[in-house]
Amino acid sequence: MKRALISVSDKNGIVEFAKALIENDIEIISTGGTKKVLEEAGIHTKSIEEITGFPEMLDGRVKTLHPLIHGGLLGRRDLASHLEAMKEHNIQPIDYVCVNLYPFKETIMKADVTTAEAIENIDIGGPSMLRSAAKNYAAVTVVVDPLDYPVVIEEIQKEGETTLKTREKLAAKVFRHTASYDALIAGFLTNLVGETEPEKVTLTYDRQQGLRYGENSHQEASFYKEPLTVDFSITNAKQIHGKELSYNNIKDADAAIRIAREFSEPVTVAVKHMNPCGVGIGATVFEAFQRAYEADSVSIFGGIIVLNREVDLVTAEKLHGIFLEIILAPSFSEEALALLTKKKNLRLMTLNFDQAAVKGKEMTSVLGGLLIQDQDLLSPTETPKWQVVTERQPTKEELKAMEFAWKVMKHVKSNGIVIANDQHTLGIGAGQMNRVGSVKIALEQAAGQLDGAVLASDAFFPMSDSVEYAASQGIKAIIQPGGSIKDQESIDAANESGMTMIFTKTRHFRH
Ligand code: 5GP
Repeated sequence: MKRALISVSDKNGIVEFAKALIENDIEIISTGGTKKVLEEAGIHTKSIEEITGFPEMLDGRVKTLHPLIHGGLLGRRDLASHLEAMKEHNIQPIDYVCVNLYPFKETIMKADVTTAEAIENIDIGGPSMLRSAAKNYAAVTVVVDPLDYPVVIEEIQKEGETTLKTREKLAAKVFRHTASYDALIAGFLTNLVGETEPEKVTLTYDRQQGLRYGENSHQEASFYKEPLTVDFSITNAKQIHGKELSYNNIKDADAAIRIAREFSEPVTVAVKHMNPCGVGIGATVFEAFQRAYEADSVSIFGGIIVLNREVDLVTAEKLHGIFLEIILAPSFSEEALALLTKKKNLRLMTLNFDQAAVKGKEMTSVLGGLLIQDQDLLSPTETPKWQVVTERQPTKEELKAMEFAWKVMKHVKSNGIVIANDQHTLGIGAGQMNRVGSVKIALEQAAGQLDGAVLASDAFFPMSDSVEYAASQGIKAIIQPGGSIKDQESIDAANESGMTMIFTKTRHFRH
C-alpha cells in the first residue's frame, strides 16, 4: 500500500485532497493539527508517533525530523543497498508528501510582530520534508501548492501514479518555494542585525503577471513583485479598466508615481519614455492638469498621467480628449469613470496615495549583476542650505519656481534640465550627452514663456556656455549644485547678465 504524509499550515482544500488519496488506496500519515482537521472530516490517518515511536515535542519544533520519516522520503527505490538498509531499519517508503509551511511572511508583515513570534514561525521540519521528497522526485511526489492538488489526483486516478514529468515539475517548484521562504527569513534577520552590505543578497520576487511582451514585441517579459511591499508603489496600483499593462507602461507609471510623490498639493504628472513631459500644480486637480497639459501639449500624446487627487468630471472631460496610455489616481468620481471607461483600451489605475512611500533600497540590473543603492529621497527643503552665489537675489516667485523645478529635475534622465515657473514646467531637456544640449532643448520648448521662468540643472555646469546661452534667451534665475572647478566662470557670466544663481550643493543624477 502506498503512503502519503500530510502536514499543512494552510488547510484549504486538504480534506478533499486527502479523501481522494484514500479513495485511491493511499494510506495517510499526518501531524497533529492536520490530523485533527482530517479526523473531524471523518478521514482516518496515522499519527507521526505511530510511525516513529516519538511524540511531537518542543512546542512542535520537532515533529517529523526522524530517520523513519526522512529515510522513507529519501531512500532510493532503484538501489538494492538502499532497499536493504530500509528493510533492516524498518523504514517504510513514503510516496506522497503534501506540506505547506508556517506562515512566516504573513507573520512578519503584521505591524506589531515581535522577534520571538517571527522566530517561532520559521518552519524547520516542513522545508526538510519538502527538500527530502523533492530530491527523491524519481520516486516521490511532493506538493507544496494547493493549486497542484487537482493534477496529482487526476494522474493517480488515471494511471495509478503521477508521471515523472509532473514529479520533476513539482520538485522544482518546491526548491523555488523553500529558497524564497529562506530568502524572507534571511532578509528579516539581516534587517534585524542592521547588516547593510551583506556578502550575499537573497532576493525573492513573486510573479505578479505575465506581460504580452517586453520593451519590444520580440522580447518575452513578466512583472514580479517584492513579496513584502504593501506601500505606495506601482506594484500596488490596481488596474480598474482598459487593455493589459505593458512592460513600458509599468516602467513609465513607476517614473510618474515617483514624481507625484514629491508633491503634497494637487499635482498632475505626464510622463513619456521615463521622463516627465509636463508637470503642473494648482489649487485643484483640474488646474494642475490644465497646467501640465499646457506645459507640453504635443508630447503628452500617448503619455502616462498620474494625478494625486480624485479625478472629477471636468478633469475627465479634458483627459478624454487626449490619447493616453494610462491615467492613475487615488480614485475616479462615478461620472468621471463613466466617461473615461468609454475608451476600451485606456488603462485606468488606482493607488492609495496615503500609504507610506516604499522604504529601502532601489536596484537596477546590469548584465550579470545588480546595483543596489538608497533611493534619492532628498527633498529641496532637506538639502544643505541653498546659497545665492550672484549679486542678484531671487524673487519670492523665483524661489518657489526653483523648488518646483528641483523636484521635477530629480526625475529627469541626466543630463537633466528643467525650466519652470512656480506653476508648471515650461521646457525639459533630458538624456543628452552634453549639458548645453539639454539646455538648448529645454529652452527651445520654453521659448516665448520665459517671464518668471527659472532653470534647474541636475549637476554642475562644467563651463559657462550653458549659463551664457540661458541668459541670451532671457532666463533670469538658475539653480544648480555647483562644484565645478570652473564655477567662477559660470557665476561671472550670471552676474554679467544680471541673473540670479543658486548653488544647492547636492547633485541629482538619474541614469
Ligand atoms: P500541524 O498543523 O499539522 O500540527 O502542523 C503542520 C505544520 O508543521 C506544517 O506547516 C509543517 O511544515 C510543520 N512541520 C512538520 N514537521 C515539523 C517539524 O519537525 N518541525 C517544525 N518546526 N515544523 C514541522
